[in-house]
Amino acid sequence: MKLATKIIHAGAEPDPSTGAIMTPIYQTSTYVQEAPGVNKGYEYARSQNPTRKALEDAYAIIENAKYGLAFSSGVAATDSVIKLLNPGDEVIAANDMYGGSYRLFTKVWERYNIKFIYVDTTHAANVKAAVTVNTKLIWVETPTNPLMNITDIGAIAHIAKSAGALLCVDNTFASPYLQNPINLGADIVMHSATKYLGGHSDVIQGCLMMNDADLREKLFFIQKSCGAVPGPMDCFLVLRGIKTLHVRMKQHCENGKKIAYWLRANPKVDKVYWPGFKDNTGYAVAKKQMRDFGGMISFELKNESDNEVKRVLSSTHLFSLAESLGGVESLINHPASMTHASIPKEERIKNGLSDGLIRLSVGIEDADDLIEDLNKAIG
Ligand SMILES: *Cc1c(COP(=O)(O)O)cnc(C)c1O
Repeated sequence: MKLATKIIHAGAEPDPSTGAIMTPIYQTSTYVQEAPGVNKGYEYARSQNPTRKALEDAYAIIENAKYGLAFSSGVAATDSVIKLLNPGDEVIAANDMYGGSYRLFTKVWERYNIKFIYVDTTHAANVKAAVTVNTKLIWVETPTNPLMNITDIGAIAHIAKSAGALLCVDNTFASPYLQNPINLGADIVMHSATKYLGGHSDVIQGCLMMNDADLREKLFFIQKSCGAVPGPMDCFLVLRGIKTLHVRMKQHCENGKKIAYWLRANPKVDKVYWPGFKDNTGYAVAKKQMRDFGGMISFELKNESDNEVKRVLSSTHLFSLAESLGGVESLINHPASMTHASIPKEERIKNGLSDGLIRLSVGIEDADDLIEDLNKAIG
C-alpha cells in the first residue's frame, strides 16, 4: 500500500459496538469484568485504552514498524528508552540535538550512573571510535535541531549492530513522511508527536515504534509501570492529525524550499541551514535516506548584534515567536534563549549553535505571504 493510503487508513477500524467510522474517545479509567480475570482485553486505562490502541497501531503502520507505543510527551518516550538501561551502561548520543533530550540525559539520568558520550554523529567514524564494551544505546537525531545536520542512519545502524547496542533515532524533524529509520536498520524510532504528527499545535505527545517483540514487551512494561501515558482525547487528536500528514508535509516541503532559497539570496542573511542545498556536506546522505527536505530552516544574519537579532525575531507577524514546530502555522524561534537555553553556552557555541541563530518552522500558509513577512522583518 502507498504512503498516502496507509496514512489515511492506519489503525482505523470502525468502532465494533456502533460502527462509528472514527475511533471514539474512550474517556474511561476502568473496564467492567464479567468475572475476576475475564475481560475483553482491557483492564485498567493506564495499561490499555481503545483510543490509544488505535493510535499505537497507526504509529506502527506509518513507520513501517510492527509495534507502536504512545507516551504523554516526546521526552517521556525518550525517558522510557533510557529506562531500558542499567547503571554503568553507556550511551553514545549526538552532540547536536534537541535541548530537552540533552537536559534529560545530563541532569536526570547521569545521576543514576548512566554515562552519555556526545559525539558528532555526522561522521560515523566518531561513533565507532566511542564504542566500548559498555555501549548499550546509540541515540541519533537527523536532521538535527536546530542545525539540520544529517547523520547516515544506515551506517550508524551497522555500528550499533556490531557493538551489540540498540540504535534509537529521534525522527521528529523528518516525520515518517520524509524518513523511515526502521527501514534503514534502527531498532527504535522516537517522535515528539507534538510536532508534525499532531500537526496542529494543540497536543503534547510522544511515541516509540519498533519491530522486535521482546523490545516491545520491555517498553510496554516501562510504559505501564512508570505511567507516562497520554489520555484518550490527546490520542484522538493525534489520530486525526496523522490523517493529513502527507498533504501537510508536501506543503511544508514546498514552502520550506522556496523560503530556504529566498533566504540564501537575501544580502542581509549570512548562513542558511536547510538539508536540501546541494552544496551541504550532508546532502548526499539526506538525498539517500529522505524523500524530501522538510520545512525546518535555520539562518544567521550578517549583522549578528543582539539588537538586530531580537528586532527581527519580534518583527514578523505571520511567523509567531514561539517554541515548538511542525504545526500548520509558521513559527520563528531563537534557539539560544528559547528551545536550547538548557545547553550551557560554551557547549552550544562549540557545537556551532550561535547566539544569532534564528530557527523557522515553515507552516503551510501561502509561501508568498510568508516571504513578504520575512522580507519586512529582515528589511
Ligand atoms: C519537541 C521535541 C522533543 C520533545 O518532545 P515533547 O513532545 O516536547 O516532549 C524531542 N525531540 C525533538 C527533535 C523535538 O523537536
